[in-house]
Amino acid sequence: MVEPFAAVDVIKAKRDRRALTPEQIDWVVDAYTRGAVADEQMAALAMAILLNGMTDEEILRWTAAMIQSGTRMDFSSLPRPTVDKHSTGGVGDKITLPLVPVVVACGAAVPQLSGRGLGHTGGTLDKLESIPGWRASLSNAEMMSVLRDVGGVICGAGAELAPADKKLYALRDVTGTVESIPLIASSIMSKKIAEGVSGLVLDVKTGSGAFTTDPAQSRVLAETMVRIGNNAGVRTRALITAMDVPLGLAVGNAIEVAESVEVLAGGGPADVIETTVIFAREMLDLAGILDVDPADALRDGSAMDVWRRMVRAQGGDPDAPLPTAREEHVVRADRDGIVTRMDAKGIGVASWRLGAGRARQEDPVSAGAGIMLHAKPGDEVSAGAPLLTLLTDDDDRFEGAQEALAGAVEIGPVGTQIYRLPLVIDRIA
Ligand code: URA
Repeated sequence: MVEPFAAVDVIKAKRDRRALTPEQIDWVVDAYTRGAVADEQMAALAMAILLNGMTDEEILRWTAAMIQSGTRMDFSSLPRPTVDKHSTGGVGDKITLPLVPVVVACGAAVPQLSGRGLGHTGGTLDKLESIPGWRASLSNAEMMSVLRDVGGVICGAGAELAPADKKLYALRDVTGTVESIPLIASSIMSKKIAEGVSGLVLDVKTGSGAFTTDPAQSRVLAETMVRIGNNAGVRTRALITAMDVPLGLAVGNAIEVAESVEVLAGGGPADVIETTVIFAREMLDLAGILDVDPADALRDGSAMDVWRRMVRAQGGDPDAPLPTAREEHVVRADRDGIVTRMDAKGIGVASWRLGAGRARQEDPVSAGAGIMLHAKPGDEVSAGAPLLTLLTDDDDRFEGAQEALAGAVEIGPVGTQIYRLPLVIDRIA
């Protein structure tokens, strides 16, 4: 096959700050997917995009080309409106777990394609896999059948969904080209649009534990993704939410499932409950379901019933005990006072080093590893009181985790002014 372009010309155009033409974009994404553009050429192009950016037209076309590289799912035969949420990733961010059953209990269908954790942010599939028997990998037919029977499904994306993104994301991960707003936005949105939902709510995290640490950057990312979604016919809105402090009190895999189950049982930490209800309201609004209060689904047990059915439909036993870590170490307060800071990034990295996350995509994760928080910013503590419990299967990991925690938790005199981001910082519709 004679290629219509030379990769080096496309790289030079972006290097020299020119906009790529639609034909160049369609070709380079397709040629990379089929192996006609080499990894080193795509890496150079990704770096030029990271340094020089893309216009809106380029971002929309790049996203469309990535969708085009695979198949699009179609849920139009389902009797309920479909709506999904996507988070850019954070520490202790288990919101998908209670949120999907709540939204299903209120009448929408939720086909949630989720990912695994990489680096210090956790992955929904890793968390759910700590439930004995639960399977993340479903065929399209199985996914459809769970959606029809239960109304909600959380599973991994099949190989046929935006394969260009799978290849490009792995390359970006090892070439220092992840932190580019055009590349992040097109990566996330190509998968979400190919998933075929009619409504999408984005949770764009901001703060030390997020991909974008600065609220202004997070806003640009959110606005870019909302434009891409609406342009593709998916009703999309975004909330910019705090990730300066971990969400809830559990950071890990099995312990985050346990915390989510507490929320579904009507208890659990206030920030997890509040975030779940806020996102459920947005999703139900997009689905046109306006006459229900999602908080009721947590109170009356209907979301818990959906959760149990969802877990069973994917081979899991909702009553089986969750795995626990073999070793634990308690970090205690060294003085009386008030917790003034609990840095999400430090806690996330420590949890990852304890075995809850992976260094390479193919590494296994430990289901029981992670960190339980016993206090959050604003809580008073006395000297010797437990602040964190570190959990791992391998006590050699404590040292690295404690290094990551250096300076992550601060205690000041009672009365110290505490600066925390509000749970929801902005909303882009
Ligand atoms: N998540 C994705 O799916 N892609 C990115 O580029 C970043 C986060």
